[in-house]
Amino acid sequence: MTKRILIVGGVAGGASAAARLRRLDETAEIIVFDRGPYVSFANCGLPYYVGDIIRDESKLLVASAEMFRTRFNIDIRTEHEVLSIDRAQRTIQVRDLQRGTIAAESYDALILSPGASAIRPPLPGIDVDGIFSVGAVPDKKNVRQWIDDKHAQRALVIGGGFIGLEMAENLAHRGLTITILEKAGQLMPQLDPEMAEPVRRQLAQRGVTVRLSEGVTEFSRSPAGLLATTDRGTQLAADLIILAIGVRPEVGLARAAGLTIGATGGIAVDESMRTTDPAIYAVGDAVETVDVVTGMRQVVPLAGPANRQGRVAAEAICGRGSHFRGMQATAVCGAFGLTIASTGASETALKRAGISDFEKVYLHPGHHVGYYPGAKPIHLKVLFRRSDGRILGAQAVGEEGVEKRIDVIAMALQLGGTVHDLSEAELCYAPQFGAAKDPVNLAGFIAENVRSGDMPLARRDEGGFVLDVRDPNECKGGMIPGAVNIPLDQLRLRLAELPTDRPLNVVCAVGQRAYYAVRILRQRGFDARHFTGGMQTVTTLG
Ligand code: FAD
Repeated sequence: MTKRILIVGGVAGGASAAARLRRLDETAEIIVFDRGPYVSFANCGLPYYVGDIIRDESKLLVASAEMFRTRFNIDIRTEHEVLSIDRAQRTIQVRDLQRGTIAAESYDALILSPGASAIRPPLPGIDVDGIFSVGAVPDKKNVRQWIDDKHAQRALVIGGGFIGLEMAENLAHRGLTITILEKAGQLMPQLDPEMAEPVRRQLAQRGVTVRLSEGVTEFSRSPAGLLATTDRGTQLAADLIILAIGVRPEVGLARAAGLTIGATGGIAVDESMRTTDPAIYAVGDAVETVDVVTGMRQVVPLAGPANRQGRVAAEAICGRGSHFRGMQATAVCGAFGLTIASTGASETALKRAGISDFEKVYLHPGHHVGYYPGAKPIHLKVLFRRSDGRILGAQAVGEEGVEKRIDVIAMALQLGGTVHDLSEAELCYAPQFGAAKDPVNLAGFIAENVRSGDMPLARRDEGGFVLDVRDPNECKGGMIPGAVNIPLDQLRLRLAELPTDRPLNVVCAVGQRAYYAVRILRQRGFDARHFTGGMQTVTTLG
């Protein structure tokens, strides 16, 4: 018998599910409803459309309704809003937004992929013209139009997460001066605070004003333009305000239909993306899934997982028994010449989840060998389980080669890999691309040394004697207060100068010479420990 499958939302998750369904079941009747004017558009490309990097709006439409009809025989109904679900009757109520009519549609299986809505706090003045949320293509057209019509020169971006940074970068590309207001004490909340520090610094160097630990309380309009008042009493003037303070899962339909909503606010689903009603599936930004590292449920609005979940739901409906492996929140953002990427849990997330069995290493290798021109440092932090070396998360910031390293680690993490797998990883190498010991291998070597006890880590908060093994001229640029300088090459001759009653915390520029020193000292009976990432960690990450 022909199955009738209805899909609510025709973008990342919904469109993926529809296309996969057709490939698996040629006879099913598949109807996609979207209240917006388009399906399958590239949300992720929208900031670049504002920035004029993508000039032709049609390029953002990954697949047209027409293509879905002709190539996949899928019935696309844009400007159709799904109003409610009658689970007992297996029907949905749909309003045709053009005609204003309402009709009931029956289903054998229903997939919800309604996404998430941009948070718009009910602050005084929030509806003043010139304050834009980031969401769909029409929003972005409005932003472009506003910039052109008002000859906007000053943009205030509220929210310093990845969408805020992408919008800031693209508005700067259009020639606007940028202020970013962020309520938290750091940019990019998925990073640990010290890893977000180079981002803040880079933005400042590129002329972006970043105001951290400051939230907006009110908006108004004045002859000088738009005004945003902050909780510090400051008034910030702008010609355009972008709200990028996060999204909230669209769970209205699911909640009204009595489907279970999880504690984190997303629709509860099992590994097949099935909701608490076996005929209804849910995918994408609207659902909560299990974090593969912490085991906690979470809502993570990212396009890759939404697409994969759409595929899993389609396969489950067609009896293929596919499972979603869980979320690891692998993400990347490019802003003002930096690439910022992460996968798995941050140190903050591990602590929040009550996980204490972890260790962290920092390293700052070049993205390719130093002798080939143009090597750029990558600041990399890798978190792993102390007890068995399992990779828990990684974050990286740099100008080149950042996402490649995080992608490799992401794959290892998903497969349950350890830092020993990173040491063994056989990766591409030629001088212009990497190094025979790739940053990923180096991270593995360092973590292995920590786990084996060859190179215990210094704890900055535990005190001890700080031994700086750099050359004296390097120390002129600054040392850790109280540190004693003995260059590595003199160390064996000057051991008598070192105390034996305290740990020796050994530091160098990036960690390599300190590692050699730690090995010399430990084999001679000293309790030497390694300052991970060296002075570079102190100066770059704070
Ligand atoms: P969506 O793609 O949002 O689709 C939901 C659709 O459902 C919408 O079209 C909506 O109109 C429709 N809908 C909702 N309710 C109803 C209803 N009742 N009836 C009918 N239709 C309904 N992710 C990344 O991984 N990388 C990026 O670089 C990235 N950049 C982004 C940039 C921007 C500006 C934005 C806004 C998002 C970005 N994302 C990015 C996030 C990514 O776009 C989302 O995670 C992804 O689109 C979620 O897919 P989805 O199917 O759950 O929802």
